[in-house]
Order: sequence, then C-alpha cells, then structure tokens
Amino acid sequence: MDPFQYRALRGAPELAADGVALVAVAEAVGTPTYVYSSAALEARYRAFAAALAPSRARICYAIKANDNLAVIRSFGKLGAGADVVSEGELRAALKAGIAPEHIVFSGVGKTAREMAAALDADIGQFNVESAPELEALAVVAGTKGLRAKIALRINPDVDAGTHEKIATGRKQDKFGVAYDEAPALFRRAAELRSLDVVGVAMHIGSQLTRLDPFEAAFERAAQLVERLRAEGHAVSRLDLGGGLGIRYRDETPPALDAYGALIERLVRRLNIEITVEPGRYLVAPAGLLLTRVIYVKRNGEKNFAIVDAAMNDLIRPTLYGAYHRVVPVREAPADAPRETVDVVGPVCESGDVLALGRDLPRLAAGDLVAILDAGAYGANMASAYNGRPPAPEVLLKDGRFAVIRPRLSLEALLARDVLPDWLA
Ligand SMILES: *Cc1c(COP(=O)(O)O)cnc(C)c1O
Repeated sequence: MDPFQYRALRGAPELAADGVALVAVAEAVGTPTYVYSSAALEARYRAFAAALAPSRARICYAIKANDNLAVIRSFGKLGAGADVVSEGELRAALKAGIAPEHIVFSGVGKTAREMAAALDADIGQFNVESAPELEALAVVAGTKGLRAKIALRINPDVDAGTHEKIATGRKQDKFGVAYDEAPALFRRAAELRSLDVVGVAMHIGSQLTRLDPFEAAFERAAQLVERLRAEGHAVSRLDLGGGLGIRYRDETPPALDAYGALIERLVRRLNIEITVEPGRYLVAPAGLLLTRVIYVKRNGEKNFAIVDAAMNDLIRPTLYGAYHRVVPVREAPADAPRETVDVVGPVCESGDVLALGRDLPRLAAGDLVAILDAGAYGANMASAYNGRPPAPEVLLKDGRFAVIRPRLSLEALLARDVLPDWLA
C-alpha cells in the first residue's frame, strides 16, 4: 500500500501520511519540497530486516540513496549500519550515530585522505575495487600502524537487466575487480600486513526487478568463496550489495521473501556472515516531491502543467527517463474532467520534464501535485541549476512534521561564490 493516502483529515479528502495532510506542509514550508513518511521508512526497514532475519544479515543502508541525517538516523535506530561512498557520507553516517564497526566504505575512487579518515574512524570494512586501491590502502594503513579490514569487491560479469546507467556488475562497467583476477589479488592482499582480508563483496546494479541476476551473481560469489577457502584463505564475510527494485509504474520486483530465501540458501551453503546494502528499496516509496502548479499552458494539441519543481530538484526523469507517478494532492471527484498533460519545470532545458503525457484531472494554477516514489536519488541528486535553491526536506511522524533540510535562502546560495580581488 502507498504510504500516502487520501484522507479527510480537514474536510475534503487530501493526500496525507503519518496523520499529516500535505496541504499543511505546503502552507508551512512552501513548495517544492520533499516529504518523507517516518511510518513508511520504518515499515520498509522492518519488512526488509524480517525477510533477512534467517540469514542474520547485517543491513548497511546505502546512504547515497538519501543522505539526510534524519533518514540515516531513523534506520540507525532500527539497527542499520551504513554503506558510504565518500568522506562526506562517512561523516554523515557517524554524525547520524551509526556505529563505526557497522560502516562499509564502497566506491572505485577512494582517495588517500578518505582512507585515512575512515581508518581514524575505525570503520568495519573497506570494499576494495582494484589492485592499485589495494596497494594505496595498504600504504595509508601501514603509515598509521593500523590494519584495514577489507573485502574485495568483485565484478561477477552479470547483467542486472536494469537501466544502462545503473548497471554495475558487467565487465565493461568500472566497478569491482575482474572475477578471474580476484584469487591473485586475494593472495596479494594476504601478504600485506596492514590489511586484514575478511571477505568478498559485490553490487551488480540498482532497481533490479528480477531475481535471476541476483541468483547468478550470488552463485559466482559463492564459487569464488569456495575456491578461496580451498586455497587456504579465511573468508568470513560476503557483502551482497543492494539493488532490490521497487514498482515505479508497472514493474513487478521480486518479493522480499524470495530475495531473503535466496540469501538464506547462500548462508547455509557457505556458513558465512552476510552484509547487504539496500538503498532505494528502503526509501523510494517513503518519499514524494510536493509541488505547485504555476501555470497551465494549452498549446494547441499539447497541455503543459508548469510546476515549481524541476530537474534541479528531481533529475531522475531527465537522467534516466525515469517514470514517477503524479497525483493531485486534493482528491478529484470521480466525474472531474480529465486531460493529458506534460508535467514540466521552469528550467530552461527541454529535458526539464517530470512526467510526460499523463492523464490527470484537469489542473489549474495553484493546485498542489505530488510526484510519488521520490524518496531515493531525489533530494541528494539536486543542484542549484538555474539559480534555484534545491527543494527542502520534511519528515512526518505521528501527526507532526519537521523540516530536516531547510530551503537555502537566495542569500545563502549567492554567498557560495567569492569574487577574486581583481574583480572586487
Ligand atoms: C548504490 C549502491 C547501493 C545501493 O543500491 P540500491 O539500488 O539503492 O539498493 C549499494 N551498494 C553500493 C556499492 C552502491 O553503489
């Protein structure tokens, strides 16, 4: 069930969640704004954790899906660790209260400075993605007299069957160590005294809507673990990454139980500690982008609803051709006249389209609409393009709401730049 439902909290039915009407949020905070439901975040985490309970998997929330401290902390309070991909995300995880030993550091381009910060924080695992990274980490840890706990991220060469830009596990993708080179790199890592090799990691892509790519990749990982063990390495951890998809339109992503059962089989076979790194699954449906219609423009055949949110706030439709459902915030009567509209933002790019050719109740200037399933890869991919401060973020909880990332003022936006003395 969608976390945001029409409820008659204040008269006519309006979209609401956690006992809060979105109209009240729009009036208090303005638009555009991201709105997240605590009830939905918590329910999704609990359901995910329950499906993985038989595997006793550690859940490291992939912060890049939504890096708001309040979101990270909401999961942290339920027991989540964190998967981070930069020093900025590392600091966010620590600030949100995630225990360092439950932090995994992923990413193909960790700098020496980032490695040092993560070693100082004493994180639980570095997922190493290449031979040069392995050598660099060994040097940084050695200089500090520390041992870095590492897993080798392998590229299983499996096609996740997802969008080109978010497939990460094929051999032409930049991620992970080539499968066939992994044993040699494992041997090399075992020689380095500043490295403590604990396991194997992988992540084959995002928004997977079928189970078989997971199954194929897990099988490749299992065979590698067995081979490494046969060669005498103690492989105690297997990090399976994230990637479980959600329904944006008409996809039928794998059921949680089926995903959980697949992992449970792996645990039985390998007797190994499992880590998973879900991002999108936990946050996407728990958030929406609330926006107001500025103008409705009817150009002959074409109708445009020009709204105050744009590609700088939510770039997924522009970047991936992503589909997000759009619904009016005030429920339209069943017999309301309808029309086909493109929902577009004010940015000066033809690609600034939020939704194309949607059949919606006839909209008018001033109407509020919600762009659904925008909790993941929304707010944190925002920019200030076109001099537009990105949409703020609001968290709902038990009849209350709080602004968890305020809208930047135009003064704050302009204060980012500094005139050099020769132009002052
Ligand atoms: C992006 C990413 C994730 C999370 O992916 P989702 O599709 O959001 O679950 C997990 N692990 C790594 C290494 C990632 O890069």
